[in-house]
Amino acid sequence: MRLNLRDLIRQDGGSVPFSFSLDLSDLDFFGARPIAHPVEVTGTVSNRAGALVLQGEAVTTLELNCDRCLRAFSREMRVPVDTLLAEELEDEENDEIVLLEDGEVDLDEVFTTAVVLAMDVKHVCSEDCKGLCPTCGANLNDGPCKCRPEIDPRFAALAQLLDKKESDD
Ligand SMILES: [Zn+2]
Ligand SMILES: [Zn+2]
Repeated sequence: MRLNLRDLIRQDGGSVPFSFSLDLSDLDFFGARPIAHPVEVTGTVSNRAGALVLQGEAVTTLELNCDRCLRAFSREMRVPVDTLLAEELEDEENDEIVLLEDGEVDLDEVFTTAVVLAMDVKHVCSEDCKGLCPTCGANLNDGPCKCRPEIDPRFAALAQLLDKKESDD
């Protein structure tokens, strides 16, 4: 979506709201396409004493696979955007400013860039995800697998004795 700001530029104190959805379902991240649902974008551009300020937010639900246990899960993503717009750069060094093209701002580009930059490289279904057993591949979040049988308390006592003996040597 392109937003026409030609009137707002001359209207100190004015603001223009916007609301649209972006389809980023084709974007590929490491072979996956996590932005499976529409990205809902809302915000406003305000003229504050001649400076154009864009404030908005992109919201979507990501469809991810956990990097530890491989299980599919969904997670809400919110990306705030707060930036200045200008018709031309007064300071070449300032790349925080989004340039207008012919009095219009390309909101698709602004919010697509923000969402891509906000994507995490790693996704874990939960902080305490136990991952997969390296031996049998079982999801350890579902409970211990057969590779780790409950230790018979008698053997546990023997193991302690052996450990103690070894550390005494
Ligand atoms: Zn996990
Ligand atoms: Zn196992």
